[in-house]
Amino acid sequence: MRPVTTGRFAPSPTGPLHLGNLRTALLAWLFARAAGGRFLVRVEDLDPVTATREKEAAQLADLQALGLDWDGPVVRQSERRALHEAALERLVTEGLTYPCWCSRREIREAAAAPHVPAGAYPGTCRDLTAAERAAREASGRPAALRLRASGQEVEVVDLLHGPVRRRVDDVVLRRNDGVPAYNLAVVVDDHDQGIDQVVRGEDLVDVTPTQAHLCDLLGLPRPSWAHVPLALAPDGSRLAKRHGAVTMADLAAKGVDATAVRGRLAASLG
Ligand code: GLU
Repeated sequence: MRPVTTGRFAPSPTGPLHLGNLRTALLAWLFARAAGGRFLVRVEDLDPVTATREKEAAQLADLQALGLDWDGPVVRQSERRALHEAALERLVTEGLTYPCWCSRREIREAAAAPHVPAGAYPGTCRDLTAAERAAREASGRPAALRLRASGQEVEVVDLLHGPVRRRVDDVVLRRNDGVPAYNLAVVVDDHDQGIDQVVRGEDLVDVTPTQAHLCDLLGLPRPSWAHVPLALAPDGSRLAKRHGAVTMADLAAKGVDATAVRGRLAASLG
């Protein structure tokens, strides 16, 4: 028997969900439920600076008000550190990582060199000599951990975008404050939770080949990906607070209840 499809919505609890996020959540739910599948909610609260429990509770209340339901308890990414660390350990053991001491400013400056692809890590710490490495270790500056990717291209086939081929960068896998990075955690958690259908906003399509590559390196099956269009403001920019009533609370204050919001979102999806 074919295993049941499992989809998910994985918000970062950094503020209220706006109509764009809610529309993505509704689509993810529809994809999963229309396939007769399971639907999970995972709170991506890895960043202790921006994530709060109050924002998490408000987001979940909005999803419920919209009529979305999910299977099983909500999972918090911050409570899954051991799993993330086990995956990191595996990559370290296989020689697929290296420590990086660069500050943002050092990266910006080195990345201005003509041979560095736009937006890519310039490779400063990739091949340090033993002496250079020892000097950085002695400085006491905490190191991040990067993927030793070496610039290969990886292709995924997105359900909506078709083939997406991108160069995999030496992305950060663990930040220099010890927090596992999003690209690593998302791959580990999706697999551990049995998620095989990832429906999310189009803003993440470019990092998907990197996530596929991490799946391959960790021996995990790749999920399917569908990157859905973002809801845009009338001026074509990404929806934000400055565009007025963009959250459920804003709309409720104007007399638009959750049922009406759901109707508008559904209409916008055709
Ligand atoms: N937590 C991410 C966000 O809110 C989404 C991650 C994902 O769906 O893979 O943008």
